[in-house]
Amino acid sequence: MTRSSSQRLPPPDREENARAGPFCPDGREEHRDQESVSVTMDRVSYSYDAPVSQTLFDRAASVTPGGVNSPVRAFRAVGGTPRFMVSGTGPYLTDADGRQYVDLVCSWGPVILGHAHPAVVEAVREAVGHGTSFGTPGVGEVELAEEIVARVPPVEQVRLVSSGTEATMSAIRLARGFTGRAKIVKFAGCYHGHVDALLASAGSGVATFGLPDTPGVTGAQAGDTLVLPYNDLDSVRAAFAAHPGEIACVITEASPGNMGVVPPEEGFNAGLKELCAEHGALFVSDEVMTGFRVGRQGWFGIDGVVPDLMTFGKVMGGGFPAAAFGGRADVMAHLAPAGPVYQAGTLSGNPVATAAGLAQLRHLDDAAYAAVDTAADRVRSLVTEALAKEGVAHRVQSAGNMFSVFFTDREVTDYDAARSQEAFRFTAFFHAMLEGGVYLPPSAFESWFVSAAHDDRAVERIAEALPAASRAAAEATEG
Ligand SMILES: *Cc1c(COP(=O)(O)O)cnc(C)c1O
Repeated sequence: MTRSSSQRLPPPDREENARAGPFCPDGREEHRDQESVSVTMDRVSYSYDAPVSQTLFDRAASVTPGGVNSPVRAFRAVGGTPRFMVSGTGPYLTDADGRQYVDLVCSWGPVILGHAHPAVVEAVREAVGHGTSFGTPGVGEVELAEEIVARVPPVEQVRLVSSGTEATMSAIRLARGFTGRAKIVKFAGCYHGHVDALLASAGSGVATFGLPDTPGVTGAQAGDTLVLPYNDLDSVRAAFAAHPGEIACVITEASPGNMGVVPPEEGFNAGLKELCAEHGALFVSDEVMTGFRVGRQGWFGIDGVVPDLMTFGKVMGGGFPAAAFGGRADVMAHLAPAGPVYQAGTLSGNPVATAAGLAQLRHLDDAAYAAVDTAADRVRSLVTEALAKEGVAHRVQSAGNMFSVFFTDREVTDYDAARSQEAFRFTAFFHAMLEGGVYLPPSAFESWFVSAAHDDRAVERIAEALPAASRAAAEATEG
């Protein structure tokens, strides 16, 4: 489908953006600063469109708010028509207009073996033929729990749920129930799902009490949440000093990937763990994104800091809704029916989801992780090379095989730094890559994900798309 280069991208609706609030539970926030790109986008042109996707989007918009079931999918941050995908195989996605893309989103992480991996597909076929849900204990959930416990030593006991949001919500309830304390600490720019108490990230003061970031979350729900700057142990120290005996837990992304990739500085996680231990609080490491992705043991396998509780999702579900939280046996023993803290789920431990997750985890051996790491390395160097060639200021930041590109020349160590990048360059870059057949996360504040299926051919296609995209990034201007 070729169109004249004068075609314009529909700019985002600023008011709706503001009303929707910043949180985008595909894991992320819709960053308000990006509203400035709408002006730029009037000037961005591209040479093809997506008529079938547009028709589907129009239909979707009449029956679903904003046309999507998770905000970031709507392309609000970059403008244009979201692509409706109809199939995936290996590293590729095909949209409703019949266009194929190299996928650098991988369902926001879960698809680590590539789309429609034969082992996962076969396990699902087998499981689904035996019934889809029993509402009783089953074999698959025991096996999946055993696999998680075997891989991740800090997890002595684990409870399966259906989404990362449920996992963090339940971990926090458990931490509060276990400690008998109300307050929790989270970090600005860390996303832990759309849990009411965790939808607070505003405030740049040292120890600002969370103000709700979205209508519908009351002050009461967010008021016990302390939001601190990431990578700043002093502020955590200060918070414990200001609220002695009141903080139930500190929750952090093991290595944040929801403000772009901003890894913990040396000693940060260990320092959190130490401060928590010192003050009788629990250290909750959210590995929903990093777990089973950056290695067999997730981020724990990289920094070795032992959390009291951990949360998982994404990769462990093999593309199905399966997630988990787990950790110290004495803490988990407080969970119903063993203990008094209530938690439940009709589809928790679902046999089809657990079969998919188990098949994927069993396939994720050292060779598979090496393939993912290699693909990540290759894409990273290609991106850097292409952007450098056009003189575009940027930083590629990594956490194992997760990485993202910040359009800035400064190191990004926290959310404020992440937001100070030239996001308008990403918008131009994104659309040029899309046109070149590469599907990037539709926001400058997301990790990119590769899979073990990203082979030479897929990497070559990315390489081919990069020169034009880098030029577009270089030429982009802030509106
Ligand atoms: C994706 C994500 C979540 C939320 O998981 P959902 O399955 O989308 O509810 C929580 N924490 C982190 C770190 C995530 O990346």
